[in-house]
Amino acid sequence: MWSIRRKLILMIMEASKDSYPKEFGALLRAEDGVIYEISMVPGTIQGDRHTLFFMFNKAVDFSIVGSVHSHPNGVLLPSDEDLHMFGNWGPVHIITGSPYSETSFQAFDRNGKPIPLKVI
Ligand SMILES: [Zn+2]
Repeated sequence: MWSIRRKLILMIMEASKDSYPKEFGALLRAEDGVIYEISMVPGTIQGDRHTLFFMFNKAVDFSIVGSVHSHPNGVLLPSDEDLHMFGNWGPVHIITGSPYSETSFQAFDRNGKPIPLKVI
C-alpha cells in the first residue's frame, strides 16, 4: 500500500488552492512506497485543460512513481486524458479537489482504479 507524508499532502493542497481556477500538476517521488516529494517542471505545471503532463519528458528519474493534479471542478474522478496519462506515468496517481483539506483527494492506480493512500 502507498502512503504519503502529511506535510507533502498539505503542501499539495496549498498549491492546488493557489492554482485555482487553473489546474495544479506535478510528479510524485517515492521511496519504499512512501511518497515524500513532488517534482515540478517549470512552464508545464498549470493548464486550463488536462494536457499538461504530455509535455513531460519520460523516464528521466526512476524515483518518479506517478503524478498529482487538481481538478478545479472538484470531481475526484479521472478524465479520459487522465487515464491515458496514468498509464504512462507509473503506478500511483492523485487527484485533488476542493475544499483542499488533508482528505480532499483520491488516489488511483495506472488503470484509474481507486486505491487506498495512507497519510502518515
Ligand atoms: Zn484530471
